[in-house]
Amino acid sequence: MGRAGPNHVTCPVCGYAFRDAPVGNYVTVGREADFCPKIPGRPSDGARLIRNSVTVCPACSFAAGEDFADLFLSFDERYDVEERLKEDGLLRVFRSASPPWLAFHAAEICGKARGATSRELGDLCLRASWVCRKERERPFESTFQLRAVRHFLRSLQDENLVGRELAVTTYLVGELNRRLGNHREALNWYVNAGRTTEGDPRIAWLDRLIDKQRKLAEEQAA
Ligand SMILES: [Zn+2]
Repeated sequence: MGRAGPNHVTCPVCGYAFRDAPVGNYVTVGREADFCPKIPGRPSDGARLIRNSVTVCPACSFAAGEDFADLFLSFDERYDVEERLKEDGLLRVFRSASPPWLAFHAAEICGKARGATSRELGDLCLRASWVCRKERERPFESTFQLRAVRHFLRSLQDENLVGRELAVTTYLVGELNRRLGNHREALNWYVNAGRTTEGDPRIAWLDRLIDKQRKLAEEQAA
């Protein structure tokens, strides 16, 4: 990462300077069907490693997946970020405890203020749900899965996704619905996802995954 000095970062919103945990690479031993990385060791350590992909300002809670040094926010964006962070209920309640999923929640709020795409916002919520699962925070996991589905649906409707991104996003709407217990809905989306991959050998792996998860949803729906 091209940060100035060893992890010294300055918040582009409030100007607070702090040392950030290094992003660091981690070893994965495969992924779950919603692409949650399997990381050796304790699940809570894995949650922390995933969480470190987002930088959070300890002073104002501004958060982003990008390097802070590369960010420039206009006056209006900064104002919008500050207002949204101030008004957010989850941040108010959990700021001091700072559970790992809160970083993604903060990044989602700031992403909205900075005009992030629905696909990007969905991805933040998806990663928040992975962290919740590793932390065994079941209700929060479902909350973030539901939010990810909503963002992905909006993305499929408005953002002209193509190729692999279209196929993966469509598949994820199915897979997250399955995990939320909406098995019929999931089956419809697996079918939709299957149509988006047709004839592309580069995503043959996704075809196999869709097939496997579709069968699982069929069993669960029965
Ligand atoms: Zn700040």
